[in-house]
Amino acid sequence: MAGIYIHIPFCKQACHYCDFHFSTSLKKKDELINALVKELELRKEEFKNITVETIYFGGGTPSVLSNEELQLIIDAVYINYDVDRNPEITLEANPDDLSVQRINDLTNTPINRLSIGVQSFFETDLKLMNRAHNADEAKTCIEEATKYFDNISLDLIYGVPGASNTQWLENIEMALSYNVPHISSYALTVEPKTALASFIKKGIIDAVDDEQAHEQFHILKEKLEEEGFIHYELSNFGKPNYFSKNNSAYWQGKSYLGIGPSAHSYNGRQRGWNVRNNSKYIKAIQNKELPIEMETLTQTDRYNEYIMTGLRTIWGVSLTKVETDFGRVFKDYLIEQSNVFINQHLLYIDDAHLRVTKKGQFLSDGIASELFKINLA
Ligand code: SF4
Repeated sequence: MAGIYIHIPFCKQACHYCDFHFSTSLKKKDELINALVKELELRKEEFKNITVETIYFGGGTPSVLSNEELQLIIDAVYINYDVDRNPEITLEANPDDLSVQRINDLTNTPINRLSIGVQSFFETDLKLMNRAHNADEAKTCIEEATKYFDNISLDLIYGVPGASNTQWLENIEMALSYNVPHISSYALTVEPKTALASFIKKGIIDAVDDEQAHEQFHILKEKLEEEGFIHYELSNFGKPNYFSKNNSAYWQGKSYLGIGPSAHSYNGRQRGWNVRNNSKYIKAIQNKELPIEMETLTQTDRYNEYIMTGLRTIWGVSLTKVETDFGRVFKDYLIEQSNVFINQHLLYIDDAHLRVTKKGQFLSDGIASELFKINLA
């Protein structure tokens, strides 16, 4: 199984917390779409004899493209790759782009999964984050989307300064009221050089309270599990049969091709990343050059990645796989390093798999880093 990720690097306005690659100018949109189509063509040999089972439009804001523009890119995938008969095709979309008419028209494209960037149903939160939509737009768009799509995911952000636990619970309950089968939820993180970081530094916005974010994570987990959602990855909750196939493939170490500026690729041995600049990306592709930097992963890199992703997911870290793929030394090292966390009830071993306990879940990235091996080369 393999997937294609397509990065659409445009947004209507910059959210205060965001450090993804995007431009708020749409001037180069047509050139960029042509370049995406061309990159798909240039890289087809990388997926020779591989079936594409997921196509994911991420960003940026992919919903700023029209259905016709999205279809052009999907056509390029079908022309150049072997696509599964029933692929998962996801569109990340923002509520302000999803009018009633637009949603209706989307049903005429092969897109069969919507990931809607709601983030919050409260105006105060949306303003603080500088989202382009308001709460009413979010509600109307979800109501309409659920009439036409059954595979819908909503994104919510917790740990927003000033948002109480009660308000957070209301957000979750509002999301649940639409009966969607998938929810992704992330803690608001303060990335360096973002507007949020600068506002916090100047005292315009309160700092993010890690303790409160931790509490809100547990409120989320408890509420969604009560409603039949499976917490299958640190930030992802799905009803059975509705886990994101695209993201599950990343977490299980499957290959993916990242198309577009700043997109990352992985082929099992190497990781690559495209240039994070729209003009440089377009220019390179027009010259039939791939603007990609590749890094060959060492055995230690691959082990570290497996530990990081494994601990974040319901599948955990298979001790058998660690021994088979990396050797006995790695397995012994892992068990030895894990002991301290097992004694603190943050990790446990069950059925030859290492997993985080409920108590350890929110801390899984930090725990994983303590289990890493260091590259000695
Ligand atoms: S819409 Fe998404 S990608 Fe664009 S600025 Fe906001 S968070 Fe970042």
